[in-house]
Amino acid sequence: MPPLEGGEVVRVVDGRGWFMGKAFYSSRSKIALRWMSFEDVEIGSELLAGRIAQADALRRSLYPDETTYRVVHGEADLLPGLVVDRYGDVLSVQFLVQATEARKDLLADLLVAHFKPRGVMDRSDVNVRTLEGLEPRRAVLRGDVPERLEYAEGLVRVSADVQTGQKTGAFLDQRENHQLAATYARGEALDCFSYLGGFALQLATRATKVTAVEISEPASEALRHIVQRNGFQNVEVVTANAFDFLRDAVDEGRRFDTIVLDPPSFAKNKDAIESAVRGYKEINLRALQLLTRGGILMTASCTYHVDEERFEAMLASAAADAKRRVQIVERRGAARDHPVLTALRETRYLKFYVLRVVD
Ligand code: SAH
Repeated sequence: MPPLEGGEVVRVVDGRGWFMGKAFYSSRSKIALRWMSFEDVEIGSELLAGRIAQADALRRSLYPDETTYRVVHGEADLLPGLVVDRYGDVLSVQFLVQATEARKDLLADLLVAHFKPRGVMDRSDVNVRTLEGLEPRRAVLRGDVPERLEYAEGLVRVSADVQTGQKTGAFLDQRENHQLAATYARGEALDCFSYLGGFALQLATRATKVTAVEISEPASEALRHIVQRNGFQNVEVVTANAFDFLRDAVDEGRRFDTIVLDPPSFAKNKDAIESAVRGYKEINLRALQLLTRGGILMTASCTYHVDEERFEAMLASAAADAKRRVQIVERRGAARDHPVLTALRETRYLKFYVLRVVD
């Protein structure tokens, strides 16, 4: 048998030689095998097309009237190493392991056959690919892809930057939480780590005033633009470091009725957990200091390595230090188009809490 190069489909047998299943093989990753089937079937275009259709069927039943959603969430949709986000007639795709990289053109063909999109963007410009010995890559894969596109999230227009923006262009995992945020918004609102305003725009539908804090200048500019496109007069975009903004706001004795904290991941690996928790505690502590009695804090963490238990312990300690009494009103995760495989807890990463300051 020739040596494996990586990216192949392999038959897996146990110590006695008995068939266990078929898997994608990686020659570089610590995860050598990614399960494709417990049956001895061909892992070819028919099976892959079926998996794409099956994944899309869930989304269509969840969101019959929407055309923007995550179609394929990797392993959780039995397509390890593949992420497909649909933004109307544009698909934004990531090939994250050797086996999906090796089948990139086949997968693009299958996606084109299923969705007939105007364009397919390859957003494989992510560092995790280096664990597979693959270079990050960003390219238009099929058709044409506009630089920026818009879609509806509930009552507001939001924008995605599929060519160069973060992730595949937007944070679709927070889409349901964005809309939930509108239902809690009131009074003076603050959205920290805004990016293109997924939360800020929702808050603006109900709050008197919204301050959106984002460190990136291009993202702040894009946010100002979409605020205008929505015709909101009550949103102020501040280009600043949210850590500094929160500290200064506390020093100035400012008060808010609604606060959202949606920071980027603070820990990419286990070694960084302690410092990540310190970061979370700092911003959550300050937010709790800034809230009025009855005020709502919506606080997220997309750091997989900080699990719910640690996150809640951090919240309790932040509340104690802020001398506030705080209720957990809702515990949520990513939107339903980011399902979690029971066998693979790693597919669960996003935490989203709605807290209320009682006293
Ligand atoms: N809330 C957004 C997604 C936020 S992603 C949504 O729901 O769509 C995190 C954002 O935080 C990024 O746009 C990043 O540029 C920004 N960011 C990172 N560090 C920051 C800091 N210290 N202060 C403010 N913004 C920061």
